[in-house]
Amino acid sequence: MNRETADVAIIGGGITGAGLARDCAMRGLRTILLEKSQPGRQTTASSSRLIHGGLRYLLYDRQTTLETSWDAGYILQIAAPLLTRLPILWPVYRGHAHGLAAVDALLQSYDGFQRLKGGKPHLRLTAEETLRLLPTLKKEGLRGALTFDEWQVDPVRLVESNLSSAERHGAAIRRDCPVESIEKAPGGGILLKGPNMEVAASLAVNAGGPWAGEIARLAGARVPLILRRGTHLVYERRLVPFGLILEAEDRRRYIFILPGPNYTLVGPTDVEHSAGPGSCAPSQEEVAYLLATARRYFKDFPERFDRVVCGLRPIVGESGGKEQFLSRGFKLYGEAEQGGPGEFLTLAGGKMSDYRLMAETAADAVTKKLGPRGPCRTALETLEGKEISASSRSALLPKPSSLLRAHPRLRYAHSLAFLAACLMRRTAAAATRRLKHSKAEEFLDAYEMPASFFSTQLTAFSIVPPPKTKSPS
Ligand SMILES: Cc1cc2nc3c(=O)[nH]c(=O)nc-3n(C[C@H](O)[C@H](O)[C@H](O)COP(=O)(O)OP(=O)(O)OC[C@H]3O[C@@H](n4cnc5c(N)ncnc54)[C@H](O)[C@@H]3O)c2cc1C
Repeated sequence: MNRETADVAIIGGGITGAGLARDCAMRGLRTILLEKSQPGRQTTASSSRLIHGGLRYLLYDRQTTLETSWDAGYILQIAAPLLTRLPILWPVYRGHAHGLAAVDALLQSYDGFQRLKGGKPHLRLTAEETLRLLPTLKKEGLRGALTFDEWQVDPVRLVESNLSSAERHGAAIRRDCPVESIEKAPGGGILLKGPNMEVAASLAVNAGGPWAGEIARLAGARVPLILRRGTHLVYERRLVPFGLILEAEDRRRYIFILPGPNYTLVGPTDVEHSAGPGSCAPSQEEVAYLLATARRYFKDFPERFDRVVCGLRPIVGESGGKEQFLSRGFKLYGEAEQGGPGEFLTLAGGKMSDYRLMAETAADAVTKKLGPRGPCRTALETLEGKEISASSRSALLPKPSSLLRAHPRLRYAHSLAFLAACLMRRTAAAATRRLKHSKAEEFLDAYEMPASFFSTQLTAFSIVPPPKTKSPS
């Protein structure tokens, strides 16, 4: 039996737990992280691999877009070598649920958030210019396209880099270490037990992602979590020269085509998952839905993919609620909200793109309980351990207010009001012919793609030139 002691024990080594281990260790807390298998290989690995600003949440939860973009800006600073900018094209067709004006207004609104994370302002392309960039795209009904960008990351490397940083600051990382029981320690604190190990800590934080509900139950606590399954088709080659966002056949959802250096992801789906977190498998309907959507826009889109991956989004809330009132933000649960022992916290929900802010929030609560330690330093030092110079630290912004997070209806109304204002501005600009359209060359320039792009762009899906990879400076 391996017995260890710590100030704080973190359960789960996905991006949430890894970010928290780094934050706690940097504040000088004796930190131990327990991961039941290998870090980062669960939900985090099956994500769409984007550090994004939460464009989608603008429709109903502008506060979460602000938090996500705000924190993505910090992640960009601390993990720059791991990130690559991905330009994304949003083609709009006649009959789409969101027409050109609506998508343009949405991206106009998103431009303000993009500044927080080094994103470029969106561009408007006519149908002709869109087809110059992507000749294989369906022509019938195409009205034009809008562009924006997000950051691409290898999620497992992001987790491992956070863990290496945590270890350099003194944290202990235990792999293949499932926590099977959680109880109050006789002399105070909390006791975590697994096969062949026992950890006595002053405080434990549950960072179990989709397993957070199960882990909370071990401690006699209750965390309301909704699990929604997301599936991607994986092609082990690059199929398109930049990302695409495409309206699905049911006209209710969108899927991405996301090319990486040597792979392409098509997805994700977003479906209810009523089985537990341990049984996540894609359905045939999901695979068919993804292929049908891709082939709706590219008639020769390859039907043979290499793998299917799926993961479960852990969303805080009770099932049965309306989607627009469900936040994709995160929540920290203590004794008052979840019951169970006072030495047990749960950090749930959120995204990879705001993992640093999630960690900061939880570590603030930990230090409040355990007594003052150093302040949060995770935005001041890169994951490799280099100090971020004061001059490039311009992104140190005041934390977004949490007022709207607590009031779902107010949050929804707040988002709609902003979108309506953008739509009105856009309508006025169109009426007075002030809308500027860009040439395909401006798109290539904006994303530093070579002018030779047009001559190397082939129509076959199997051969797309490799990207010119460039990390943010
Ligand atoms: C399809 C899909 C696409 C997504 N795309 C994006 C995206 O592009 N960008 C983005 O920002 N977010 C995205 N997300 C959300 C993001 O992936 C998750 O919010 C995030 O990865 C959750 O990380 P986590 O650490 O909380 O969970 P996980 O990565 O699942 O980590 C939890 C860990 O806890 C461990 N664990 C469980 N039980 C125990 C136990 N008893 N003892 C010890 N360890 C235990 C597990 O093994 C696991 O490693 C996506 C999610 C899905 C499902």
